[in-house]
Amino acid sequence: METVSELLSDDSLVMRLAAAFRRAGHDLYLVGGPVRDMYLRRPHVDLDFSTGATPEETLEIVKKLSTTQWLQGMKFGTVGAEIDGVHLEITTFRTERYEVDSRHPRVEFESDVETDLSRRDFTVNAVAMRLPEKTIVDPFGGLDDIKERVLETPIHPDDSFSDDPLRMLRAFRFASQLDFRISQDVLDSVARLKEKLRTVSAERIADELAKLLLGERPGPALEQADATGLTDEFLPELSGLKLEQDPVHRHKDVFHHTLAVLERTEPILQLRLAALLHDVGKPKTRRIGPEGVSFHHHEVVGADMARERLRALRYPNEIVDSVAEMIRLHHRFHTYRLGWSDAAVRRYVRDAGPLLGLLNALVRADCTTRNAEKAKRLAARMDELEDRISELAAREEIDKMRPELDGGQIMAYLGIPPGPLVGQARDFMMELRLDEGLLGEDEAYARLDAWAREHGIEPAGTRVPPKEKKKDA
Ligand code: ATP
Ligand code: MG
Repeated sequence: METVSELLSDDSLVMRLAAAFRRAGHDLYLVGGPVRDMYLRRPHVDLDFSTGATPEETLEIVKKLSTTQWLQGMKFGTVGAEIDGVHLEITTFRTERYEVDSRHPRVEFESDVETDLSRRDFTVNAVAMRLPEKTIVDPFGGLDDIKERVLETPIHPDDSFSDDPLRMLRAFRFASQLDFRISQDVLDSVARLKEKLRTVSAERIADELAKLLLGERPGPALEQADATGLTDEFLPELSGLKLEQDPVHRHKDVFHHTLAVLERTEPILQLRLAALLHDVGKPKTRRIGPEGVSFHHHEVVGADMARERLRALRYPNEIVDSVAEMIRLHHRFHTYRLGWSDAAVRRYVRDAGPLLGLLNALVRADCTTRNAEKAKRLAARMDELEDRISELAAREEIDKMRPELDGGQIMAYLGIPPGPLVGQARDFMMELRLDEGLLGEDEAYARLDAWAREHGIEPAGTRVPPKEKKKDA
C-alpha cells in the first residue's frame, strides 16, 4: 500500500488534481484521516479533500482526471472519484442554512477551511494540507495533539457532542484504533451527555463499535467508555458483567476477563464480537451452591442475549448468526478433558461448520488464567483436538474412497459371475486408486484388462455405467 506521502509525490495524480483546481481558481485541501495518518506514519486508504469549489465545479475538474465518479453525495457537497485506483472524496466547505422565509432548508457552500475544520470531531482530524503547496492549516493545535497522542475537540466538547452525539463513541473508536488517550474534558463531557447517544441510529453506532472492536486496543477503550456510562446506552450487557466470578480466577470479574479475551483475539469482526459477548449469559445464570459458583447453560442464554443485542444494533444476519453460534458452542470444548469419542469430535466439527477455525480461536483466547500450568494444559488439549480433527478428516476421506470401477463394471468387463475373483479384481482396483489416484475410465479399464490377462482371464470387454455412487470421483 502506498503511504499518503507517496500519493503526494510531485508527478502524482493527486498533485495533478490539485494543479487543475488551482488553474480553475479554487482551493484544494487534504483533510482529516489521511493528514493525521501521514504524521503517524500509518497507511491510509481513502483520501478526503475540502474545497471552495461548488460540487458542480468540482465534478467538472474531476471528470477530466478520474475513471469513475460518484454523484450520490452531491446534494450534501461531496463528489467521489477514483484516480489511479485511489478512492477520493472532495467536499465543498459547507454551512447548513435554514432560511426563515424559505420552506426548504438550504445547504450553502460559502465558508472557509477554518470553519470546515471547526466542525470536525477531534483536533487530530481537523488538520488540513493546502495543495499543491503542501502547507499545513492547523487552527486547533491538531499536530501537537497528534504528537501527544490525545483526543480533544476543536470546540467545547459539550457543543460538539450536542451537534452530533455519535462523536462521543468516535472518541473511543479512535482511542482503540490509534491507541490515543482521551482528554479529561472530553471524558467528562461524555459522562454528562451520554444519553444523547440514544438519538443516533443503530447503524451508525454499530459501524463505530465495529471499528472500535477491530482497533489495536479495544479493551482499554471499552473500559473507559464503560466508566463514562456511554456503553450503557447501546450495550448495557457490558457493565452487567461486573460480578464476582471466583477468587482463584485471574480476573476477579467477568467484565475484565471479557476485555482480556477481546485483546487476545485477532481483529476479525465476528471473532471480536463473540469475544465481547461470550459471557453475557453469566449474570443471569449465576448460582452459588455448596460446590461454589456455577453458570449452568450460560452459553445458551448468552447466545440468545447476544443475538438480540446484535439484531438491535442492526448487524447483518450472517454476523448475528455466526456470533450467536460461536457463543453457544464456546463451552463444548471444556468437556473434552473427559475424553471424546470420534463421534463427539465429528459432532463438534459438524456443529461448528464453517465457524470451526474462529470458534477454536475464541476458545483459546477464553483461557485467561494466571496459572501457567493450567494455561499450558488447555492449549495442549486444544492442539490435540485440532490434530484429531484433521486426522479424522483425512481418515474419512480415505474411507469414502472407492475403486474407479465398481463390482458391476468389473463383472461385465471380465464377463464373469459374482465370486471370489470379482473380489480380487476389486481389491486390485482399490490398490490402484490408493497408489495412483484417479486414472480416468479408459486407463482404469486398460489396467483391469492387463490384470485379467495375467490371471488367465480373457475379458469380454463389455463396458456398463457405474452402479455404486462414486463419492470421491
Ligand atoms: P478512518 O478512515 O481511518 O476510520 P477517518 O479519520 O478518515 O478514519 P472517517 O470516519 O472516515 O474517519 O471520517 C473522515 C473525516 O471526517 C474525519 O477525519 C473527521 O474529520 C470527519 N468526520 C467524520 N465523521 C464525523 C462526525 N460525526 N463529526 C465530525 N467530523 C466527522
Ligand atoms: Mg476515512
